Amino acid sequence: MVDKKEKIWLSSPHMGGSEQDYVNEAFETNWIAPLGPNVNAFEFAISNSLGNKINVAALSSGTAALHLGLQLLGVTRGDEVLCQSFTFSASANPIMYLGAIPVFVDSEPDTWNMSPSLLRKAIESRIAEKKKPKAIVAVHLYGMPYKVKEIQAIANEFDIPILEDSAEALGSSYMGKACGTFGDIGVLSFNGNKIITTSGGGALVSENKNYTDRAIFLATQARDEAPHYQHSNVGYNYRMSNVLAGIGRGQMEVLQDRVDARRQNHEYYEHELSTIKEIEFLKEPEGYFSNRWLSCILTPSYEKRESIRLALLDENIESRPLWKPLHMQPVFTHYKKFLDGTSESLFDRGLCLPSGSNLSQNDLQRVTDCIKKIWL
Ligand SMILES: *Cc1c(COP(=O)(O)O)cnc(C)c1O
Repeated sequence: MVDKKEKIWLSSPHMGGSEQDYVNEAFETNWIAPLGPNVNAFEFAISNSLGNKINVAALSSGTAALHLGLQLLGVTRGDEVLCQSFTFSASANPIMYLGAIPVFVDSEPDTWNMSPSLLRKAIESRIAEKKKPKAIVAVHLYGMPYKVKEIQAIANEFDIPILEDSAEALGSSYMGKACGTFGDIGVLSFNGNKIITTSGGGALVSENKNYTDRAIFLATQARDEAPHYQHSNVGYNYRMSNVLAGIGRGQMEVLQDRVDARRQNHEYYEHELSTIKEIEFLKEPEGYFSNRWLSCILTPSYEKRESIRLALLDENIESRPLWKPLHMQPVFTHYKKFLDGTSESLFDRGLCLPSGSNLSQNDLQRVTDCIKKIWL
């Protein structure tokens, strides 16, 4: 048998060093529960990194945060919710949990995120049918901020709240302000593949403390004040474990290093592949700062994209087509959508390259050498 080359992953966990100490502390003090000092300290660290006015509720996943966020914005059964189509399914699944109806909005080519003009079109068209949307789920995909000013202006004009899916954008910013802080409610994820991880986890963040207090109440089974178990609301078991928050505490200490490393990956790819005119990268518009969670390339065609993906696979290098737009997903195809072809073209032609903050120079070179060979 031929020796397989060492696998290069798309985006793997990268511990900083002190995570284990905080986890041990949880064991030593017997805080093995969905509350405790690590949860408080992790929330404090997140709040610090986003700007001090931000309140944080650490939860069991980003998906849980989206679910509670929609509910806090008043979304209930039968309501319509506008959702970026070009994203991971978890941006839209919580709309379904609530019995609400997703309406998908295509992306624009500058940031690959929600198109302001299609958002306006969608809102006006739904209002004309007496179905004013209840919320907007906007996503900073791959860490690139969406067009915050334009999207916010439309949301304000029609008085529709924004649920900001910042699951991929911790450490990103727009005009110097942290992503996660723009929506009425923001959502973070600490899943294993994200910029930092607690193995699994998420957070709901907001300037409005009523939202985070209510999120914590609902996430801990909605217990009323009483000596016995008393419930006036349907609750959830969505709070973050104090053991996992210990991992998060350690990870927050190295967040900036992780952002720097991922941005360096992107710079390396962009520089090394600059001779191949057929490969394009997503540029940061002025004032936009992406954590470059995943480094993505655009090729001229589906066929070219596949030839690169398969060549990398042959070298035991993991790559992944860009997110398949939700309006094309079998589970969502029958919902309303406002499209101009942007996300379908991105899905056809785009590829995410290995992007972990723990990639070596040698790993990066293996990736670019393999791609360059295709153009020889
Ligand atoms: C990862 C992700 C989520 C979900 O977060 P989990 O913590 O995995 O539940 C939601 N939206 C986007 C865009 C994501 O990438």
